[in-house]
Amino acid sequence: MRTTRISTNKFRAYQRKDIDSIPQIQSLSADDRLAMKAVSAVLPFRVNKYVVEQLIRWDRVPDDPLYQLTFPQREMLAPEDFSAIVELVRAEASETEISAQAREIQLRMNPHPAGQLELNVPSLDGEVLAGVQHKYRETVLFFPSQGQTCHAYCTYCFRWPQFVGLDELKFASREVENLVAYLKLHREVSSVLFTGGDPLIMKTAVLRRYIEPLLGPGLEHLTSIRLGTKATAYWPQRFVTDVDADDLMRLFEEVRQAGKALALMSHYSHPRELETPAAQAALQRIQATGSVVRCQAPLIRRVNDSAAIWSDMWRLQVQLGAVPYYMFVERDTGPKRYFEVPLARATEIFREAYALVSGLARTVRGPSMSATPGKVKLVGTTEVRGEKVFVLTFEQGRDPAWVGRPFFARFDPQATWLDQLEPAFGEQEFFFAQEMRTIKQQGRHRPWGETVPPRRKPVLFGHVEWD
Ligand SMILES: *Cc1c(COP(=O)(O)O)cnc(C)c1O
Ligand code: SF4
Repeated sequence: MRTTRISTNKFRAYQRKDIDSIPQIQSLSADDRLAMKAVSAVLPFRVNKYVVEQLIRWDRVPDDPLYQLTFPQREMLAPEDFSAIVELVRAEASETEISAQAREIQLRMNPHPAGQLELNVPSLDGEVLAGVQHKYRETVLFFPSQGQTCHAYCTYCFRWPQFVGLDELKFASREVENLVAYLKLHREVSSVLFTGGDPLIMKTAVLRRYIEPLLGPGLEHLTSIRLGTKATAYWPQRFVTDVDADDLMRLFEEVRQAGKALALMSHYSHPRELETPAAQAALQRIQATGSVVRCQAPLIRRVNDSAAIWSDMWRLQVQLGAVPYYMFVERDTGPKRYFEVPLARATEIFREAYALVSGLARTVRGPSMSATPGKVKLVGTTEVRGEKVFVLTFEQGRDPAWVGRPFFARFDPQATWLDQLEPAFGEQEFFFAQEMRTIKQQGRHRPWGETVPPRRKPVLFGHVEWD
């Protein structure tokens, strides 16, 4: 193995107002730069020096996948929306005018897909628990208020309303005490998943204030803590050379010493994100703490819509000791038209890529849609008695009884999301439709009720002394 020197550049972000100061942008035409300024008034834009210098291949712009992943493009907006906003920018309209126009466009881009706001927010003592979502019985999502941004933004991100200030609610919480109180009452929960934004945008000292309370007594049923992050791809220095990187590694070790698993749910969209010295050093350091890195990303046209990209990525993840986990279908929000891949194509790409890797990489599941009823996996397409169908199943269900039940939809080569599918065999509706209506009517966020499924209490040894 080679030894490589990694420069310890300080983190530097570029946002909309800094577009002209990105040196690499100067090679674009004035028209393209104007388009970029216009689109980034509507969709969130933020990159950093590492992404610009080490991930994007500027000689391949605009087709470069990492450029498409992070830089706004005019086709991301509907043509009439683009003209409206670019005219304002060209005419040097005031920021107030530009943002008013931008807001109008944003509100038409389905900012809250999959019933995120209404259905998943739990309560404690009759009060809504802000910053927490509890959709699946086993896992609680937590949105720490100080983790609501990222080291760079993905152009397709479904969290974009948070970044453009559209969410009054912002799913934010300063109240880790509330989370702990809720978890103590909910012994069915075995996993807390920190998400955002990116929780690793927080300084270690801040993150510690959120994580340490989860390690204390009364939460033995909580067996894993997960951090959903893109930092391993967009700013791997977070784990290696940032001033508090060592302290972060100690925090990860403490979680393991407290008898819980720590998993980084790392968002990797393209193998190139794993092919820098910093990215590989980050993985080594994280793994040395006993934490596991599990990898997931959506399938995105122009970024990773080929079987070769996914199989290369899964193989490299396994080689680097990480675990392929989910391939998602792009959600029905924001610039979906620009990025979407039909379900029929998605399942082909998945299957082709899956066939190219060894069993060690076949921990990956997908393509999976995080839809209102649950995470629905597209198993594939087949023909049953002359009817071409999609075979689907729930990886996660709002009602755990739905999980693992295969069901069938009429094949539709154009469909890109669950709500565009019709049941196969002339049936009126899918098997979960009736219960889903009840859940919506009652606004219930926990259709599984109050019962805790029986679970064997394991025998754990914290520290073993050897003679
Ligand atoms: C994906 C997801 C989870 C975690 O699901 P796993 O299958 O356990 O990774 C939890 N809550 C919500 C709302 C999710 O979308
Ligand atoms: S890193 Fe995740 S949360 Fe942040 S912009 Fe990308 S997809 Fe969205």
